[in-house]
Amino acid sequence: MIEKLLDGFETTRFQHDLIEWYENNKRDLPWRKNQDPYKIWVSEIMLQQTQVDTVIPYFQRFIKQFPTPQALALAEEQDVLKAWEGLGYYSRARNLHTAVKEVVARYNGRVPNDSKQLLKLKGIGPYTKGAIMSIAFNEPYPAVDGNVMRVFSRVLKIEDDIAQAKTRRLFERVVAKIISTENPSAFNQGIMDLGATICTPKSPQCLLCPVQSHCRAFSEGIEEWLPVKSKAKKQKRIPYISLLIQDKQGHVVIEKRPNEGLLANLWQFPMVPIKEIEIKHLENYISSEYGLNIRLGNKQGQLRHVFSHIIWDIEVFHATTTDKVTDKRLKQIPKDALDTYPFPVPHQKMMSHLS
Ligand code: SF4
Repeated sequence: MIEKLLDGFETTRFQHDLIEWYENNKRDLPWRKNQDPYKIWVSEIMLQQTQVDTVIPYFQRFIKQFPTPQALALAEEQDVLKAWEGLGYYSRARNLHTAVKEVVARYNGRVPNDSKQLLKLKGIGPYTKGAIMSIAFNEPYPAVDGNVMRVFSRVLKIEDDIAQAKTRRLFERVVAKIISTENPSAFNQGIMDLGATICTPKSPQCLLCPVQSHCRAFSEGIEEWLPVKSKAKKQKRIPYISLLIQDKQGHVVIEKRPNEGLLANLWQFPMVPIKEIEIKHLENYISSEYGLNIRLGNKQGQLRHVFSHIIWDIEVFHATTTDKVTDKRLKQIPKDALDTYPFPVPHQKMMSHLS
C-alpha cells in the first residue's frame, strides 16, 4: 500500500524543496530559540487544539514561571492550572504536570531522548513523541497531526477519512518513509509551517507552495476537496443556571470542580443543570445540596460555551446569602481574590456581573 502510494514520488527532491523553503521562511516562534526538549514539549502540548497566536503569550508566561522541569515539578497544581487559565483542555496541563514530575523523579529532570520512555509519560501520544524526538533530538520520527495529514493527503492524493484513527497510522507510516534522516527536525517543522501558512484548510496558496511540483492534488485541481474528513457528532446542549452568590460584605461563593472529568479542579460559580432542577426549586436545591441558604435575585445575562463534545448554555443569576459556607467544595472569598484561582473562560466572563 505505502509502496504504491509512493510510486513515482521523488522523495529526495521533495525533502530538499521543503527543507530549503523552511530554512528561508521559518516562523519566528519562541520555542524555536533553541532545541530545549522541555520547551518543545510544553509548546507542543499547548499547541494541541490551539492556534499558534493564542499559544505564544501563554508559552512565554508559562516558561517564565516554570523555566525548568524541576520548577514545574515543584509547583502546586492550582498554580499550573492558573497559568493555563483560558487555554482550555485543562487535562493537558494536569498531564504535563504529572509527566514532568515523573521526568524529575525518574530521569533526574532530563527529558528522555528515547521514544519508548517518552510514550510512557502521561499526555504524550505518538504526535508529541514524534515532535520531541525530531525537533529536540533530530531523530527521524513522524509527528502527524491534522495539519500534517491535510498536507500529505493533498501531496499524495490520499482519500482516506482523516477522522479515523487507522488513517492517522497510515500517515505515520507514509511520513516515516518520506522524512529526511539528515534533518528530520527541519522536515517536520517545515510540514507544520507549510500546513499553517500555505497549505491551509481553505484556499491553499498553491501558487506560492514550495512543493507544488510534487503535489498530486494540485496537478488534478482537487486540492480544495482534500482531505476527506467525516463530520464529528453534533455536540449535546446542556442548559445550566449559574449563581453569583454574595453576602453583605460582598464576599463571593465559589466552588471547586471535581478532581476528575471536564475542567477538573478548576473553580467556578455554583452551577446547576436546569433540566434536572426547576428554577422554582433552586433555593431548596442549593440548601439541600450545599447546606447554604440563598435568596435568588435577578437574571444577569446568558452565555454559551462550546466544548468539543458539549455545549453549555448558562443563565447567570444573582443570589444573596447570610450564611457562611460549610460544604467543603465551596469557598467564600473577597471579590478581589478571584484572580488568584483558576477559572474556566465562561466563569471568567460571569465575573463582570458581580456587584
Ligand atoms: Fe497544498 Fe497546494 Fe502546496 Fe499542494 S500545491 S501542498 S495543495 S499548497
